[in-house]
Amino acid sequence: MDSVSVHARREALLALSRELGREDRKLAILGEGNASTRVPTGGGGPVMADGRFLIKASGRSLGTLAADGVVLCESGPLLDLMNAGSIDDERVDAVLLESRVDQGAAKPSVEAIFHAYLLSLAGVEWVGHTHPVSVNRILCSPRAAEFAMRRIFPDEVVCCGEESVLVPYTDPGLKLAIEIRRGVEGFRSARGTNPRVILLESHGVITLGRTDSAVLAGMLMMQKSAEIWMGAAALGGPVFLDESDVRRIAGRTDEHYRQRALNL
Ligand SMILES: [Zn+2]
Repeated sequence: MDSVSVHARREALLALSRELGREDRKLAILGEGNASTRVPTGGGGPVMADGRFLIKASGRSLGTLAADGVVLCESGPLLDLMNAGSIDDERVDAVLLESRVDQGAAKPSVEAIFHAYLLSLAGVEWVGHTHPVSVNRILCSPRAAEFAMRRIFPDEVVCCGEESVLVPYTDPGLKLAIEIRRGVEGFRSARGTNPRVILLESHGVITLGRTDSAVLAGMLMMQKSAEIWMGAAALGGPVFLDESDVRRIAGRTDEHYRQRALNL
């Protein structure tokens, strides 16, 4: 493994975490939320079950994250947990600790399990997760599924995709990781691509992608969309884009150009 790459990824992860944790953005307070990135292997190939990734330590604040609040973990033991059937909380805790490459490092977030899974998908290098006030107003309401399935303006499609995955409320930790996998696999088999946004009912938002910019853009656009949605709902809406218009925007070459320009 190239230690320069690990260093560069750690610095970029700190920058992304501080952006996600900015107080004025109201995406996360105290120890809420987390961010992660896979660590490139020597050959630059995809990191699968034997991969490593960097993630925020449990209980640290995104907005003030420092280098000692980032933990390097092995994906393998966490992915094995997801396939092992029912496991008690003590065993999950023990595996979280065992997954650290440096056994003196801080404890990784319990949400490290779903980060390990999402980072194992081809094309996913970065994952961000927050509990935004704006989006959670909708995710804690009976209209969460509509918010996930429909789009209301073009830039939402560009940054967040044609549709988001909605995961019904699930106990955070191993069970949630398994439900996220179920939702993502359903999305991938229906659409042939990774989702850009996963919405967790009564919990929060996950954005994922090839770059740190894609993760931040998806998160900020979801927040903007939620704010517009609430205003439109108060006025009798929202008015949803037609499915054909959503597909047209997602397929437009000028939008693909814009996505590349924004490094999404
Ligand atoms: Zn969370």
